[in-house]
Order: sequence, then structure tokens, then C-alpha cells
Amino acid sequence: MAAAGYTPPHPVPFAIHTVCPAASVRIPVRAVMTAIAESVASDAVTKPAPRISFVSLGCPKALVDSERILTHLRAEGYELARRHDGADVVIVNTCGFLDSAKAESLSAIGEAMAENGRVIVTGCMGAQPEEIREKYPQLLAVTGPQAYESVVAAVHEAVPPAHDPFLDLIPPQGVKLTPRHYAYLKISEGCNNRCTFCIIPSLRGDLVSRPAADVLREAEKLVKAGVKELLVVSQDTSAYGVDTRYAASRWQDRDVRARFYDLSKELGELGAWVRLHYVYPYPHVDEVIPLMAEGKILPYLDMPLQHASPSVLKRMRRPGNQEKQLDRIRRWRETCPDLAIRSTFIVGFPGETDAEFEELVDWIKEAKLERVGCFEYEPVRGATANDIGVQVPPEVKAERKRRFMEAQSGVSLKLQRGKVGKRLQVIIDEAGPTVAKGRSKADAPEIDGSVHVSSRRPLRPGDIVTVKIERAEAYDLHGIAV
Ligand code: SF4
Repeated sequence: MAAAGYTPPHPVPFAIHTVCPAASVRIPVRAVMTAIAESVASDAVTKPAPRISFVSLGCPKALVDSERILTHLRAEGYELARRHDGADVVIVNTCGFLDSAKAESLSAIGEAMAENGRVIVTGCMGAQPEEIREKYPQLLAVTGPQAYESVVAAVHEAVPPAHDPFLDLIPPQGVKLTPRHYAYLKISEGCNNRCTFCIIPSLRGDLVSRPAADVLREAEKLVKAGVKELLVVSQDTSAYGVDTRYAASRWQDRDVRARFYDLSKELGELGAWVRLHYVYPYPHVDEVIPLMAEGKILPYLDMPLQHASPSVLKRMRRPGNQEKQLDRIRRWRETCPDLAIRSTFIVGFPGETDAEFEELVDWIKEAKLERVGCFEYEPVRGATANDIGVQVPPEVKAERKRRFMEAQSGVSLKLQRGKVGKRLQVIIDEAGPTVAKGRSKADAPEIDGSVHVSSRRPLRPGDIVTVKIERAEAYDLHGIAV
């Protein structure tokens, strides 16, 4: 039943209907869109391009979404069709506010399927894809509200934009600031945690995860463009999908849930190295270790633990299960003996006692982490940690950092020496005629060590070669390409 003041709109191809049931406001914009259609139609005579038919249902917020999608597609050279049957693809932006609105959305989808058959659904109803897919299993894609990227990506997949020498100044993988052979892949924005030393959530807001299909499409594009190593990043990678309740999205012929494990597994199928960064020790992290052991993703975890003393971790309000961490690391190594763990730690956190610091040093000696960074606590303005304990004097912080790194360098050197004589896969970052610099699977770019490679044949950046390790330093390795 419709809400008071709610006038159900009548969808027709390429008309925009907008109704806000909550505010009982009706905003007619059909005339505006007709004007756009006419200008588009005249363009079409001189410049044929893929044609989109668009139905927009719902409130003003949905209308803005429609405008954004259309603006994006128009900027890429797509044209708007007046009728479904003349279009290359139809987009239906649905409303799911009331049952009547849902029924109307389903009927608009049905109409588009009958008249065209190549249909992409987005908007509020897209948040419950099962309901839509049950009725229309042949849909090209179903994306949720505000998922502009997904809609545009689905359109690209259904009907790629026409080549335009003026628009195609940007390569398909976008503008990248990293070397061609590796790229960062951001899977979410923001963070739901409230670590007391960090102000990122107040700057970037709560966690917003990208649909898995979006991430996978971007990753696939990168791999096709020559990227050999994907570096998965976010503020809290293992929390991926919590905000969307792990919503599934359509990737190739299947639905992929926005879950840490599912995404890692799918990324592992793309044929590139996949390296996970900013993973917190939630229990479900255990699930990805077998993927590492099987060689699907790199046996590498960047896991910023920040401290090892339970009382300091409590004051830091760190996420994840920090208890019995050593046991878990031991189990992970049993499953995947090559696992390299990188972590960062903070010394001199407000109120850190000598005893708490000693706990950290003992822990680091026992954990034997491959890669470790250490920072002295900095009282960032706005961080709640500044008010929860006595500030540690700067000279004490510096001395603790020195002692911590000294303890770790002994661990690192021993682990590195254990690699002498082994054959490791190395990705080349910089190459000369007979020497090159690269990284093993245990080394992320910029933050970890390098492998210095001598080679009889010329190597190129992005080559992945087998290197026999001949010499080790605390962070770098030296070897010969075989
Ligand atoms: S998890 Fe990371 S980004 Fe989130 S609050 Fe903690 S330190 Fe900041």
C-alpha cells in the first residue's frame, strides 16, 4: 500500500521519475531528460556510440544517483536511447522503500527484460539482489545503492565505451603512480575501530567496503594491463565487508561475497602475486593461511600489531584477538612454513611501564617475525591516547626503540641467513644489463628488503625469476638468477 501523498510513478524508457515517499515530495524531471535526449539524438547522427536506456525510480537521493551514473556514462561517450528496444543496454535504478515501490521496480525490470533483455539493476532494491534475481535470473548485473562504480563497470562489461581519441588519453587501468608491474588495490575506505592513538576514523569515517565484483574487475583490468603484483590495502583489510553484511555481487558467472576469504580466493585466481596488507588478527584470518600454503596468494601478512603487552593493547583499544597470538602464529607457520609476517610496533605509548616494554621485547624475540618496523609514540592532536596515561619522556622512547630494534635485528639476520642456498622467486623492480634489484615473496615494495640479483641475461622490471641466494644481510639478500 502506498504511503500518504505517495503517487506511484509510471516508468517509461528513458524517463526519470522521482518520488520521495518519506517526504511526500514529487519532483518531475522528465522534461529535462527529454531535452537531454534530443541533444543526444542529434549527436548520434555524427558520432555513433553505445546507447543506454535508463529508468530512474524513487526519491531525490536516487535521482542524484541516476544523475551521477548518467553524467559518468555521458562523459565516456555513451548516448541515451529513447526506447528500450533501440538500446545496447538498459539500466533500472530501483526504489525499495515501500512494497508498492518494490512492485513497481520489479515491473520496470520486467518491462526492460521483455523489450531489451540486456538489463542492469541498481538502487535501493539492489541491496537485496536475491529477490530480484529470483524473478529475473538473466540480469546482467545487480548493484546496490550508491554503487556508481559497479554500475559503470557493469555497463563497460556489457557494452564497452566507443573508442574516442580525445577521451582515451587515460589507459584502461587508470592513472597509476606505481611502476607498471605492481599496483595497490584499495578494497574499502574508513575504519570501524577506535584505536586510541589514531585519528583516521575521524578523518575518513567508518568502514565502507567496495563490492567484491568492483574490486575484482579493477584487479582484472590491472592484470590485463601488465600488473604482476596486487597489493591489497585498506585501513582494516580483514574487516572487509562487515559494513555491507558481506553482500554478494556478480563476478563473471557467479556471486562473490564481500568477505576477506572469498575476495582473497578470487584474487588468487587472476594469475598475479596477491599481497595482503593491514590485516588485523581476527579469528577468520586463519582461513586465508591455506590459500597461502596452496600458492594462491603470497605467503605474506602485513599485520600491524602495535604492541604485545595485553594491558597496553587494551589501552590502545586494538581490534582483533590479541590473546595467545604466539600460538596462532605457530599454527599458521605449521600450515604455511614460508609465511612471512610484517608488523609495526609503537614504543613509549602513554603510561607504558618498563615491565610492559620488557614484555614486548620478550615477545618479539619469541615471535620471530620476518619484518618489523618500530615507531616512537607521537601525541597526534585529537588522539584520545594523549589523555589516558603519563607521557613517556622522549629519551626513554628513543632508548626503547633502540633496544627493540636491536632485539629484532638479531632475529632478522638469523632468518635471512636461513635463506642462503635456497632458490626464491623474485620479482624484478629495477634492472641493469647484468645486475638487478627485486623482491622475494617475503618483501613488499617500499617497506621491506630487496634481493640484489646478478644475471647473465638482461632482466626487465616485472620479470619473475628464480634466484639462488648466496649471501644475506639483516634486510637484503644477494643471489644469482638461475
Ligand atoms: S584499525 Fe587502524 S585506522 Fe582503524 S582506528 Fe585502528 S589504527 Fe586507526
